[in-house]
Amino acid sequence: MSTAGRKINFAAGPAKLPEEVLLKMQEEQLNFNGLGVSVIEMSHRSKEFGVLLNETISLVRELMNVPDNFEILFMQGGGTGQFAAIPLNLKGNHEHADYIVTGAWSSKAAEEAQKYIKVKKVFQPKKPYVTVPNQEGWVHDEKAAYLYYCANETVHGIEFTPTAPESHNVPLVADVSSNFMARPFDFKDHGVVFGGAQKNLGAAGLTIVIVRKDLIGKQQEITPAVFSYQEMIANNSLYNTPPTGGIYTTNLVLKWIKAKGGLNAIYELNLKKSGLIYGIIDNSDGFYHCAVDKKYRSIMNVCFRIGGPSGNEKLEEEFLKGAVERNMISLKGHRSVGGIRASLYNAISLEETEVLATWMREFEKLHKTN
Ligand code: PMP
Repeated sequence: MSTAGRKINFAAGPAKLPEEVLLKMQEEQLNFNGLGVSVIEMSHRSKEFGVLLNETISLVRELMNVPDNFEILFMQGGGTGQFAAIPLNLKGNHEHADYIVTGAWSSKAAEEAQKYIKVKKVFQPKKPYVTVPNQEGWVHDEKAAYLYYCANETVHGIEFTPTAPESHNVPLVADVSSNFMARPFDFKDHGVVFGGAQKNLGAAGLTIVIVRKDLIGKQQEITPAVFSYQEMIANNSLYNTPPTGGIYTTNLVLKWIKAKGGLNAIYELNLKKSGLIYGIIDNSDGFYHCAVDKKYRSIMNVCFRIGGPSGNEKLEEEFLKGAVERNMISLKGHRSVGGIRASLYNAISLEETEVLATWMREFEKLHKTN
C-alpha cells in the first residue's frame, strides 16, 4: 500500500482526505474488524454498526465540545437539504426568519427557505460579495424563528471571524459546511449548526446536524420524515438507511483529528497555512489580489486574482497550467468568481501549502512587470 502518484488536491469539496484515513479504509475494505465484510456491506441495524455510529456521534461531541443540550444527527440531502429542513423544522408559530446573506451559499439558503417560511434579509446583500457588512446597520426582528448565517462562504472565501453574529435573542443557525471543525466552535446562542462532511470531515452523502433540544418537535406537518429532526432523534439517525460508508469515513477522519491534537491544534495549523498564502498575496504589490475584507478572509478557501483586481485570465490560465505541472490540482476559482481558489481544508498539510507558496513566488518573479 502506498500513496505514490497522489496529487496535491486543493479542491473545494469533495476534497482531500488524510492519507492515513484512505490507507486505513483500504486496509479494512474487505474485512472490517475481523467481521469478514466491509462496513458498506453491513446492516445499518447490526450491533457492530451501532457501535461505530455511536462512537462517531461521541467523537463529534468530544472534539467540537458540543453542549449537552444539543443533539447530533446524521442526515442526508447535503447542506442544500438543510436549506429546506431548517425552515421546515424551526418555523413553529413564527411568521418569518431572518437571513444574513454574505455570499452564494447563504443566498441559496434564503432562496430555498422562502418555499417554507417568509424570509427577511437583515441587510440588502451587495455584490460582489467581499465582506460582512457592519452589524450596527442590520435590521433584526425579535419575532424571527431564527437568524441564519453561513460561517464560511466557500465560493467567495468570506468567513465569519472571530465570532458569530449577534443573535438578537433568536436562535442562530450556522452553515459550517466549509469550516466544520477547522477551528474551535462556540455554540453560544446557536440553535442549529450543520454541514456536509465532504470538505473537512469525510465523504459526500453524510450531513451532520447539531440541534438544540428545545427546538425539536416544532416541524411543519409537511416535513418529510427523513428531514424531520424529531423523527431522526427518535431513531438515533436510523429512521432509514443512513450513509453507512460516509459515517465510517467520518469516524476515521475524527480519530485523525483527535490524534492531531484536536481543534486547537488543527486551527493553529490552518492559520499557518492560510497565513502563508495571504502573506504572499499581500506582499506582491498587487500582482496577486484578494478582494475579501482582511477581517473576514477565510482560512479555508483562499480566493485571489492574478495580475490585478479584475485578474488577467491569460496569466491565471498559465498559473493553473504550471500548478498542474507541479502536481497541484483543482486550484481554479468558482466559475462565478473566476481567478484562483486554494481550498486549504484540514487534510492539506503545511508542506503541501508550501509547494503552492513556492509556485506563487516563482510565478510572481517570472511575470511581475515592475
Ligand atoms: N453550504 C456551503 C457553505 C457549501 O460550500 C456547500 C457546498 N459546496 C453547500 C452549502 C451545499 O452543500 P451540498 O452540496 O452538500 O448540498
